[in-house]
Amino acid sequence: MRLDKIHPVVSGNKWFKLKEYLKEAKGLNKTTILTYGGPYSNHIVATAAACKDAGMRSIGIIRGEEASNLSPTLVDAKAFGMQLYFVSREAYRRKAVPTEMKESFNEDDIYTIAEGGYGVPGSLGASTILGIETKGYTHILTAVGTGTTIAGLVRSSMPHQKVIGISSLKNNYSLEEEINGLLSPTKQNHFSVNHDYHFGGYAKWQPELISFMNRWYHQTAIPSDFVYTGKLFFAVDDLIKKEFFPPASNLLIIHSGGLQGNRSLKKGTLIF
Ligand SMILES: *Cc1c(COP(=O)(O)O)cnc(C)c1O
Repeated sequence: MRLDKIHPVVSGNKWFKLKEYLKEAKGLNKTTILTYGGPYSNHIVATAAACKDAGMRSIGIIRGEEASNLSPTLVDAKAFGMQLYFVSREAYRRKAVPTEMKESFNEDDIYTIAEGGYGVPGSLGASTILGIETKGYTHILTAVGTGTTIAGLVRSSMPHQKVIGISSLKNNYSLEEEINGLLSPTKQNHFSVNHDYHFGGYAKWQPELISFMNRWYHQTAIPSDFVYTGKLFFAVDDLIKKEFFPPASNLLIIHSGGLQGNRSLKKGTLIF
């Protein structure tokens, strides 16, 4: 399912995750969305674009000191009207709000979305990724970061469907609990997460992943990103080879977008 085709920069699953937050914010008469992310964050640029679309202001609290030239992601976020504030890694961990921000914004106008868009509204938005046209699939496979998207897929999946997530993080074993935290008791544990394809951890990669992504593009003309979907496609390909899926399985693989993040790689690393 090519959610990457929704927009070249604003990644597919983020649109779905953000729409319920924006609705809630508007319902509370908030004019401004504040959220957190790194300099190549899909979530940051998607939030900036979604807010512009919705006629809202947006604030991005960015991890790390401001570099002399902005990342392409932050250039885009700024072009969508996002106000950027750079904070030290330590302040970022504390989710501190910079004091200079308080001069330009009224705190009462601000609606905060957690880092990566984790939360129940995000999963409600993501639940609309599936529809009648996806009923025939036996397995639904997605990349996992915070777990919000997979929680949405679990919400709207059919009882005969297996929902499987490939974690992009290393040894993030609290993930299952965090996903269950977004689900009603009857839907809890109606999914599984595979932790074997992180390639060293979040936003880490190895040459084997890059050569797979190039080969996959060469064979299928489907571009992938090295943080999420490259690892997902690698995992699915590997699991098929290992006969993990029973015969006559019908796989729905979610391409959640994120291609803009490849701009952090050295030019020429990928053939697309
Ligand atoms: C954010 C992101 C994910 C992970 O989504 P979660 O809801 O945080 O699990 C997967 N794929 C892409 C391309 C993303 O940008």
